[in-house]
Amino acid sequence: MLRFAPSPTGDMHIGNLRVALFNYIVAKQRNEKLLIRIEDTDNERNIEGKDKAILDILNAFNIKYDQVVYQSSNFKTHWKFATDLLTHKKAFVCFCTPEDIEKERIKASEEKRPYRYSGKCENLTDVEVLEREDESFVVRLKKPKEAIEFDDYVKGHLKFEPFDVDSFVILRQNKIPTYNFACAIDDMLYDISLIIRGEDHLSNTPKQIAIQKAVGYNKNLEYAHLPIILNSEGKKMSKRDEASSVLWLLEEGFLPEAIANYLVLLGNKTPKEIFTLEEAIEFFDLKKLSKAPAKFDIDKLRFINREHLKNIDDLSSLLQIHKSLNNLAKVYLEEASTLKELKSKIDEVLTKRTLNEEWQEEIELIKNEILNSDLEEDYNDFKNRISKNTNLKGKKLFIPLRLLLTNQSHGPNISDIYPAIKDILKDLIK
Ligand code: GLU
Repeated sequence: MLRFAPSPTGDMHIGNLRVALFNYIVAKQRNEKLLIRIEDTDNERNIEGKDKAILDILNAFNIKYDQVVYQSSNFKTHWKFATDLLTHKKAFVCFCTPEDIEKERIKASEEKRPYRYSGKCENLTDVEVLEREDESFVVRLKKPKEAIEFDDYVKGHLKFEPFDVDSFVILRQNKIPTYNFACAIDDMLYDISLIIRGEDHLSNTPKQIAIQKAVGYNKNLEYAHLPIILNSEGKKMSKRDEASSVLWLLEEGFLPEAIANYLVLLGNKTPKEIFTLEEAIEFFDLKKLSKAPAKFDIDKLRFINREHLKNIDDLSSLLQIHKSLNNLAKVYLEEASTLKELKSKIDEVLTKRTLNEEWQEEIELIKNEILNSDLEEDYNDFKNRISKNTNLKGKKLFIPLRLLLTNQSHGPNISDIYPAIKDILKDLIK
């Protein structure tokens, strides 16, 4: 089973979506199930409704999953494993207060060395622990005795020394399991085969392996830690970059299939540039992902979006416009890359004609000509007839004609626009 494990602490970031997509693709390739695990252990950071919003986005992207679990529903199991670890002296009770730890952190930073737990409570006897049972405490896993090694599809072979892993907290003072503990236990319980997640979790992996080893789980999980996504300035895409928000991209009129296409393409070698999710399942290969951070390029996404828009037969329902305007939408695709841009071009064509002082006289002549004909002819005959009956030619014909037809001074060829709107043209210019 593969898993996507979002925290319900904010809106979905494109980095998370990329992780979800890759998990989905690989689950399909391997014919394994996909679990969605809502990591709601951090009560202070959880935001109500974000779990639902994440599932809605997965649905919008056609990322199908087999099961949804909430990590908090497994707390009792996490406690049981923590108790077992304490009984077998693989974990210990630590009474050091947050203030003690903070002092040690400051000291370490003054001495320019990385902070590590002092080991102070590691060897307290059971009696000493019992005597202090009224004090608050955390539970720490004992630092491993040997280095922890694993292979990663993107990063290659990795080795972490016991010093890197340290004696870290698995249960907080309020007895809520930490992310690392809940995650390691759940990955074991749900028999996860491969973990695909962002590289910001790379240093957590040896800790999670240490937990699994300590509870006697010997399965070697596979890992793929995805490089971070950078913005155009080469900095990590953060909440401040609006394009990092999946919701923002959808609201801007990027299609889910185009965003998915772009995220699979990013930092990857693919046999073609424009593809569907089904096609990605055919060729996707974790081993082909670049180790280097990927740079988000909105212009590339715009290009991909337009290519996907071109493949859509019925744009009118996506744009929520009348069916008869579908061909007009197709013509305006030449000028727009997102649904939002397309909608605004179409809306402009549909608004009441604005008065244009410079060309008003010509506009009136052409308008009367149009209103007094049945518009059965094709564009050439239409244009020739208007020219003949109004005596207008060249600029004097084409500028006012375009203004009348589209309400805009620039745009796609009028010969393409005319057939797309001739049925409603009279109503538009009346
Ligand atoms: N809840 C973590 C996150 O959203 C999941 C990390 C993981 O996949 O283990 O970053």
